[in-house]
Amino acid sequence: MMLSNSWIFSFFLFSLLSSSCAQRPSSKQSSFVQCLSSHSNVSIPFSTTFFAPNSSAFTTILNSTAQNLRYVVPSMPKPEFIFTPTHDSQVQTAVICSKQLGIHLRVRSGGHDYEGVSYVSQIETPFIVVDLAKLRSVNVDIQANSAWIQAGATVVKFTTELQRKAKLMASQPVFAQFRHHGKDLFWAIRGGGGASFGIILWWKIKLVPVPSTVTVFTVARTLEQGATKLLHRYQQVAATELDEDLFIRVLIQPTVIDTKSGNKTITTLYQAQFLGGVKRLLQVMQTGFPELNVTRKDCTQTSWLKSVMYIAGYANGTRPEVLLQGKPTFKSYFKAKSDFVKDPIPESALEGLWKRLFEQASPLVIFNPYGGMMSKISESEIPFPHRKVLFKIQYLTAWQAANENTEKHINWIRKLYNYMAPYVTKSPRQAYVNYRDLDLGINKKRNTSFTEASAWGNRHEQSIPPLLLPARRSRN
Ligand SMILES: Cc1cc2nc3c(=O)[nH]c(=O)nc-3n(C[C@H](O)[C@H](O)[C@H](O)COP(=O)(O)OP(=O)(O)OC[C@H]3O[C@@H](n4cnc5c(N)ncnc54)[C@H](O)[C@@H]3O)c2cc1C
Repeated sequence: MMLSNSWIFSFFLFSLLSSSCAQRPSSKQSSFVQCLSSHSNVSIPFSTTFFAPNSSAFTTILNSTAQNLRYVVPSMPKPEFIFTPTHDSQVQTAVICSKQLGIHLRVRSGGHDYEGVSYVSQIETPFIVVDLAKLRSVNVDIQANSAWIQAGATVVKFTTELQRKAKLMASQPVFAQFRHHGKDLFWAIRGGGGASFGIILWWKIKLVPVPSTVTVFTVARTLEQGATKLLHRYQQVAATELDEDLFIRVLIQPTVIDTKSGNKTITTLYQAQFLGGVKRLLQVMQTGFPELNVTRKDCTQTSWLKSVMYIAGYANGTRPEVLLQGKPTFKSYFKAKSDFVKDPIPESALEGLWKRLFEQASPLVIFNPYGGMMSKISESEIPFPHRKVLFKIQYLTAWQAANENTEKHINWIRKLYNYMAPYVTKSPRQAYVNYRDLDLGINKKRNTSFTEASAWGNRHEQSIPPLLLPARRSRN
């Protein structure tokens, strides 16, 4: 077995680079290579792991997993070089060398970061990218109901491997183990935000069974079909009153109804995954949300893996093997923001939202219900505190051409976000850590005080809840 009994998972802390200890090598690249070679016990195949801007593969590797095209345009800062380790120990060595040489380090696993922070540093320069794309092993242990996953493996690679080994399993919360760094750090990494605490090399995942048959449906309702009222009802039932085996998200977009006049409507697309067969699903819908009027012909029974592909938007009949390519399918220039909602948004406010969506070429709003298992975990159990909410909203604006007016899109989404403020969580306004939004605040270069950082936490909560400190008396 590849994983030893001691510790397969390693966690290497890297502290912020201190300029006082930084040397100024004549050539950062050669000094780094030299440093890697001298610290590494395993030989490093540099020709296939080290990519400098003058290498023909540099741009291809840099852009390979970058999801937001806004962050690959020529004007964005580029790394001094990219290192793609082939062994865990090389990651540790890269951290040591970047510290020794005074080069800021960015780590990338899947490259899905909404603001490109895994491959672009706009404040700390020079910087390098350590890309874990080659560290993507998945080891499933069916007997133990668990799997060890290397950080560079994508969710789809893991999902496919899981289905190959165990037809009826899905994964549940993430576990990782530490040799030296203790429980607090383990607590912090589960929702505390990527790259805040160190480089994670392996995750241990607990597996949970799923039924052999799951059911999916997509039902569209436009304004003319009563979409506003229906969405108001959805907010009341989706998180709290439907069966825990049922997940229904809603994708909301303006669509043209008359090409001649250009008249638009709002289409709300109810997309569901149910852990069970169609018969029980229809009973659940009839009892909990009859207003949606889901019928047998709206539903498809399938395997869990295919249901994941369905939700991800792959065309019907796409072979699951396509997931193993690990290549991003949908790339665009985009800006996103998020909110959590505790009380249903009134119909009048939804109407204001529609008005704003009509102003943009291709906006998208997604409602994702919480409740169920999410609400059974206490808010303080892990740093992911969003437990007592009805649902999460994601706002997106995307465009396909580099020369489009980026500012226009970004201003639009910021205005939309302001408009939604009265209807979402407040004090702090919560946001989803995985939908990174740099508008909420960034660290200044090595110069952010605790007071500034905690003020940010009180205004916006993107992961760990703000620490409540006892009031201190003024020293003056
Ligand atoms: C098309 C698309 C669909 C998405 N769908 C969903 C969804 O359905 N649900 C959801 O929750 N999120 C979703 N996301 C958001 C996604 O979960 C987050 O962006 C997540 O951080 C991506 O992980 P990554 O490894 O791909 O990110 P990366 O871009 O590689 O990294 C993200 C952050 O983590 C740091 N980091 C990367 N690797 C490590 C490591 N090994 N150790 C420590 N820090 C590290 C990076 O430096 C960066 O700060 C989606 C994103 C995209 C682009």
